[in-house]
Amino acid sequence: MKLADRVARLGTETAFAVSAEAAAHAAKGNTVYPFHLGDMNLPTPANVQEAAIAAMKDGKTGYCPNGGIPALREALAAETARSHGMDLGADNVAIQPGGKPVIEKFLLALVNPGDEVLYPNPGFPIYESQIEFQGAKAVPYGFVPGEKNFLLDFEAIERSITPNTRAIIFNDLHNPTGAVSPREEIEALAELALKHDLYVLSDEAYWDIRYEGEPLSIASLDGMAERTVILYTFSKKFAMTGWRLGGAVGPADVIGVIATLNVNEESCTNHFVQWAGVEALTGDQSGAQEILRVLRERRDVAVEALNAMPGVSCYSPTATFYLFPDVTGAMERVGAKDYDAFRLGALENTGCSFCTRLHFGRALPGEDRRYVRIAYSGIDADRIEEGLGRLRDWVASA
Ligand code: PLP
Repeated sequence: MKLADRVARLGTETAFAVSAEAAAHAAKGNTVYPFHLGDMNLPTPANVQEAAIAAMKDGKTGYCPNGGIPALREALAAETARSHGMDLGADNVAIQPGGKPVIEKFLLALVNPGDEVLYPNPGFPIYESQIEFQGAKAVPYGFVPGEKNFLLDFEAIERSITPNTRAIIFNDLHNPTGAVSPREEIEALAELALKHDLYVLSDEAYWDIRYEGEPLSIASLDGMAERTVILYTFSKKFAMTGWRLGGAVGPADVIGVIATLNVNEESCTNHFVQWAGVEALTGDQSGAQEILRVLRERRDVAVEALNAMPGVSCYSPTATFYLFPDVTGAMERVGAKDYDAFRLGALENTGCSFCTRLHFGRALPGEDRRYVRIAYSGIDADRIEEGLGRLRDWVASA
């Protein structure tokens, strides 16, 4: 068959290939320490599980409204209004099967073929994939090392804006770096969006995976609610990655278009799962608090272990469940000529499996430091210590 031209522009998450390699290594009887997973090995809170079961037994198994059940739209609007200090109602919310579909639908609703869209690189690979698949031009911006964490490469952002720039994707509490923008950075970005009349996709997948500091969303700044769509997901906060539940939160007219896209694509998000979402947002929060406590403990163990390795330095991010250590020196020590040599050498010699910078986009011009992503959402603290201890021994003995 002759595939459509656009298929050549469709990207993917190459991190899934790392999972497959780790599984193959484990199948040979080897120990694997899974630092590659963006998935979680923590249970969904019991009250949320029970709400889904109760809803299923109560017959919530048929189609439901395309934009989401009113109870969940209202609950998510109320929760976002509270956490963001915004004025929102049910018509500002379109429920989705996960957070990921918001990326595709935001672009379909607001960006024309040929328009330019700024996106973070390193970043979640689906941004670039969807921008290019839809015939727009993907324009990357990077990060620079700051004192306590990575900062946006603001100069690159400013330099990249042209009369054709239509939108910017901003993932504060960032995958893979763990970067959290200081207030001034978010304000400066909002100013830029207003000045150049840009739409903003605020990917807030990790909004609630925040260990310290006051939350601030770009959507809540003056003049921004009218031009920003928030990507919300239940995946991380409630350890619900496989349930597929999220939402788009934004101006009612765009949300109406996104709900019509729902009609065209999945009809509706799973009905009884939406009732579980209502419980997640409005019920007992102790499950989510426990998830955060466990993740914080893992972060501390992992950061300490990474900084104890020769040739490795790592920030201690205040959010997300990712670390993005600079491993330039460690790669030199073990004689790894490129990222894959380092990654596969680590797997073979230590069992540690992780993604590298290249799983989050092509390297940018002038990028001379080397980074890997250590995810601690799918591995317990004692195994983090054990695995990273082996990695340290391997690097130290080289
Ligand atoms: N955005 C970012 C930055 C992510 O890392 C992820 C998942 O890893 C998503 C969006 C999508 O998450 P989901 O579709 O599970 O809600």
